[in-house]
Amino acid sequence: MPQQPVRIIGAGIGGLTLGRCLLKHGVPAVLYERMPSTPRHSYGVTLHASSYMPLLDILGLDELTFRRRTAVDGSLGGNGNIESTSMVYPGNLISTSFRAHREKLEKLLSEGLDVQWEHSLEKVEETPSGVALYLRNGQKVESSCVVGADGPHSNIRKSLSPNTPFGILPYVAFNGKRWVKRAVFDSIYAPAFKESNVIEMKIYDLVLNISVNEQQADVVSVSWIFSRPARGSTDPLHKPNRPVSGATDIPEEFFDEVAALSGLSQPFKEVLMQKN
Ligand SMILES: Cc1cc2nc3c(=O)[nH]c(=O)nc-3n(C[C@H](O)[C@H](O)[C@H](O)COP(=O)(O)OP(=O)(O)OC[C@H]3O[C@@H](n4cnc5c(N)ncnc54)[C@H](O)[C@@H]3O)c2cc1C
Repeated sequence: MPQQPVRIIGAGIGGLTLGRCLLKHGVPAVLYERMPSTPRHSYGVTLHASSYMPLLDILGLDELTFRRRTAVDGSLGGNGNIESTSMVYPGNLISTSFRAHREKLEKLLSEGLDVQWEHSLEKVEETPSGVALYLRNGQKVESSCVVGADGPHSNIRKSLSPNTPFGILPYVAFNGKRWVKRAVFDSIYAPAFKESNVIEMKIYDLVLNISVNEQQADVVSVSWIFSRPARGSTDPLHKPNRPVSGATDIPEEFFDEVAALSGLSQPFKEVLMQKN
């Protein structure tokens, strides 16, 4: 009898990595992903050797090829360099840490996998022989082996373990992404970035981060992160009970706090003070 495939819910970094590990060992798998295959996650993530080195054998790639194929500046011949002097906590980095473009990484991981894009899992029910997966398109899939890799708001977790609490750390974190005209990048951003793809600064307990996602001849895509510990229950920026749909709202108090910051240097000022 042919081996039943492992059903993996979610084709993010976790689900895809599991899929590739199973493929390497000859175990069939089908991944169900609620989003379309493109566009996906056009931004950089920092990868450390401890996470990507074990992957190389699974992917059948050497380190240089892996970095060239996934680095944010790989198409320009770069390897995702991060200068430790540009970081607030350089001790977290080792010399082989680099900036990978998440979409390129996920595309590489998905090679050879059976990913059912735009297949959203609605709920899971336990059956005598395993579980039944109910997809939003009306499909029902019975399986004896399912792995939930569907992220923090997992429907697998909500269905099978509804009382498992969802931990929220007492931190404020906002992030955004924008395209910057080449002339603006060259005059305001490039002098601070030098050879790095990420820069950071700290103002008291606030850590600010800007990273390059992608460079084109006329424009450069950059991401920014604003993060600090929550300042008690009256902190207007800390909203642990906001609905998921509110995740894209940036309240006015955010811009008030940015405007009141002293010592905000370029390009942090430029990227944070724009409202759209
Ligand atoms: C802006 C940003 C920057 C980051 N920077 C870094 C970094 O520098 N370094 C680092 O290591 N990490 C970084 N991370 C975190 C990293 O992206 C996550 O740790 C990682 O993606 C977690 O992988 P995952 O597969 O568990 O979940 P996810 O990547 O969230 O994947 C879950 C997948 O499941 C799908 N899904 C959800 N619900 C369903 C459903 N009902 N049916 C079907 N599919 C579903 C989702 O669409 C998604 O594709 C960053 C994250 C963000 C958002």
